[in-house]
Amino acid sequence: MPYLEFRHLTKRFPGVLALNEVSFSIERGTCHALIGENGAGKSTLGKILAGVYTADSGKLLLSGQPIAPPSPLAARELGIAMVHQELAFCPNLSVAENLCLGDLPRRAGFVDRTALRARARAMLATVGADIDPDTLIGTLSTGREQLVQIAAAVGTGAQIIVMDEPTSSLSAAETAELFRLIRELKSRGLTLIYVSHRMEELFALCDHITVLRDGRHIATEPIPSTTPARVVTQMIGRELIAQTPAHLTREPGPVRLQVQTLASPGKFSDINLTVRAGEIVGLAGIVGAGRSEVVQALFGLDAAATGDVRISDRALPLRSIDHALAAGLGLVPEDRKRQGLVLGLNCRENTALASLPELSRFGWMHRTAERSLAERYAKRLRLKTPSIDAITAGLSGGNQQKIALAIWLARDCDVLLIDEPTRGVDVGAKAEIYQLLDELACEGKALLVVSSELPELIGLCRRILVMREGHLAGEVTRSDFTEATLMRLMAGIPAAA
Ligand code: ADP
Ligand code: MG
Repeated sequence: MPYLEFRHLTKRFPGVLALNEVSFSIERGTCHALIGENGAGKSTLGKILAGVYTADSGKLLLSGQPIAPPSPLAARELGIAMVHQELAFCPNLSVAENLCLGDLPRRAGFVDRTALRARARAMLATVGADIDPDTLIGTLSTGREQLVQIAAAVGTGAQIIVMDEPTSSLSAAETAELFRLIRELKSRGLTLIYVSHRMEELFALCDHITVLRDGRHIATEPIPSTTPARVVTQMIGRELIAQTPAHLTREPGPVRLQVQTLASPGKFSDINLTVRAGEIVGLAGIVGAGRSEVVQALFGLDAAATGDVRISDRALPLRSIDHALAAGLGLVPEDRKRQGLVLGLNCRENTALASLPELSRFGWMHRTAERSLAERYAKRLRLKTPSIDAITAGLSGGNQQKIALAIWLARDCDVLLIDEPTRGVDVGAKAEIYQLLDELACEGKALLVVSSELPELIGLCRRILVMREGHLAGEVTRSDFTEATLMRLMAGIPAAA
């Protein structure tokens, strides 16, 4: 009999079927990975088990007995706890108070501070956490706060712990510490459900892996009998594009962007580059090399920029976003939360944002035009949202990035500056974004892409320019692309003799 079994579990939210007849089981004393793209239903599954949500239909069986914890407290009594992605404690209470919140020790009507501290210390000791029980939760790092959550679970006798993307904001040292603890808990017979989309972690840590996609169960397999590539295919439901991007098989067109002696005091100097129609040119470099500063200056965002910039052979006046927009330039910024999207707006409004002049006739927004534009791009970008009226802030990173791109697609600009196109985006959405950039190049757009991920630039670009300390350190063409060559230029190490 399986230890823990999900049988035809179904959960619906307004407009979304978060879990669709999910069935699989988990063995006692194992670490079970749960993987899937954003929105696949991983957190929902964990929350049903932990009593945060109740399923609409289907069954949950623990050692063959049906269970349906109506609350987190009820789940705790069954020995099930969840370590949440988001802060789960009162930040302005101490570690000890949080750990004993449900059952504060009292003496003569007052909270017994000594007993409180002793009990908290004992709970922290179960996970080997060296944390002062009097520390305020709000002053702990995410890693330490998680440790307290785990202590709360283990200290109250949890036998099953769900960890929802525990390492997403941990340092390397904290992650190593967490892994050590997970192995230790497993050796004590606890069962762990580990949600993550970091493939290396899962393969290093877990015994079995379950893949969810769009709320459906795709596979449950022992880790030794699968591979990361196989799991990725299961997650996204199709092969990752591994082939050469199509734009590379065509001849680039005329020069669209020409930059000569671009400079900005204290940021960068003597930047010379060209990007042709149908070309994707990469801009590599370490953080602080000046890459983002260059694309921002091209887009008119640098009040001190000087130099000679031409778009399709017409001089572009610098230091003016209006001129940049009018010349057919677009910028997808690195920090899309702050700069690229207006998160309070819905997808439709966001897509229409950069096209406002075209859409507003006689001073008001052309609603029908705005809607059809947004629908066209939602389809093209395979946007996963219940409706184009959904508020952007509720969407996953990948979908937000697609909207940031849609803003400029809708404008149909000739030259696109794209800063870190896939930062914070999961693996399936990454492949779709690469595909989209390739399509844009095939349509004859000129793309200048800043990225810190060399494999991304190597996969996508015809040429890669390398910046270091505010200068162009070199240019590498596709036939010479290797990570070693690029890294040497980035770090300023001369090529080996
Ligand atoms: P994952 O953790 O795999 O990223 P989730 O379980 O959080 O996915 O979400 C699955 C789907 O259910 C998504 O489409 C998400 O938008 C939706 N969803 C999750 N929680 C809620 C909620 N409380 N209200 C409405 N929709 C939700
Ligand atoms: Mg989640």
